[in-house]
Amino acid sequence: MNEATKPCDHAGCNCQIPISRDFCSESCRMASESQNVGGACECGHAACQQRT
Ligand SMILES: [Zn+2]
Ligand SMILES: [Zn+2]
Repeated sequence: MNEATKPCDHAGCNCQIPISRDFCSESCRMASESQNVGGACECGHAACQQRT
């Protein structure tokens, strides 16, 4: 009910995740590790589907 959340650690990601996690998905983890932060998030979650 009162679960704390934080933004995904991937700079380009808008997802909110439990504070016990670092990333919302494997795609964000890999993008962050490869420092591929310039492009759009590819996690596929609704919060990040910004392309038209
Ligand atoms: Zn995302
Ligand atoms: Zn994410």
